[in-house]
Amino acid sequence: MEYYGSIEAGGTKFVCAVADEALNIVERVSLPTQFPEATLDQVFDFFDGYKLKSLGVGSFGPIDINQKSSTYGHVTSTPKVGWRNVDFLGALKERYDIPIAWTTDVNAAAYGEMHLGAGKETQNCIYLTVGTGIGGGAVVNGHVLHGFSHPEMGHISVQRYPNDRIESSCPYHDNCLEGLAAGPALEKRTGMKGQQLEPDHEVWTIEAFYIAQALMNYSLTLSPEKIILGGGVMKQTHLLAKVRESLKEQLGDYSTLPRLEEYIVGCDLGDNSGTMGCLLLAKEQKNRMKQTNEVGAEVSNFKN
Ligand code: ADP
Ligand code: ZN
Repeated sequence: MEYYGSIEAGGTKFVCAVADEALNIVERVSLPTQFPEATLDQVFDFFDGYKLKSLGVGSFGPIDINQKSSTYGHVTSTPKVGWRNVDFLGALKERYDIPIAWTTDVNAAAYGEMHLGAGKETQNCIYLTVGTGIGGGAVVNGHVLHGFSHPEMGHISVQRYPNDRIESSCPYHDNCLEGLAAGPALEKRTGMKGQQLEPDHEVWTIEAFYIAQALMNYSLTLSPEKIILGGGVMKQTHLLAKVRESLKEQLGDYSTLPRLEEYIVGCDLGDNSGTMGCLLLAKEQKNRMKQTNEVGAEVSNFKN
């Protein structure tokens, strides 16, 4: 039997999975992210046990997704030790002569949630993960949005909450969303990790303010049908309601959004958003290759 493979490559772990034609997951493993060679050895060990039809990869970044670029498929300016300028896709292609879809981890999660999870009935949605960092992906008319590169929604500038003076956790920006609202910023403000904080802690008002401010900007720019929130920090289930409330307040009377309980939602696929997105991309890549009969010529253009 032949399977679809998925690699959700994160800064701390690589989640690899194989699935059957109906995308039922047959096996899934979580491998610690080490230096590239050691990590890839573990990945190969896992997939070598299967005959693969195609592979979908959602990688931490920044990564090069521009097919015209000479460094297409590389991890680029990452602070992750050992991974800078690594030809990740090239290493996979060398090992497996199959179609490979290549995008960011958040794009894959956005794609998975839109087609198979919380965004199933839509064609346009945004997925934002709030964890160690903040990243977002957009699916537009059913396809992952790529431009000169992939979106970096975590690094948009935000206005500070009144009297919030903590130092930004982002080494590049003093006032970006990630620097002021990702897990490390929560920790800086309170001296505690997000998971240790009580739901009635005042810091959640600040957190909701930043997330809502970003969602307002994405909403006004892209007009998605739905915004799906994931990542470790969003495991605080009370936060969704606080974000909706703050969004309503910040938007004021300007513009009408869809009903907020349906518009701002959590993930439906739990920890599998990225994996399901990668599997779906793998399947589509394989089908596209079949249709165009370009076996061997890897095409990862999600807009057909
Ligand atoms: P990563 O972003 O590294 O892939 P996560 O999405 O799990 O992983 O994000 C980790 C961050 O989320 C950490 O800063 C952690 O403190 C925070 N976090 C994890 N679980 C919770 C929780 N239940 N409530 C609030 N914050 C959490
Ligand atoms: Zn930043």
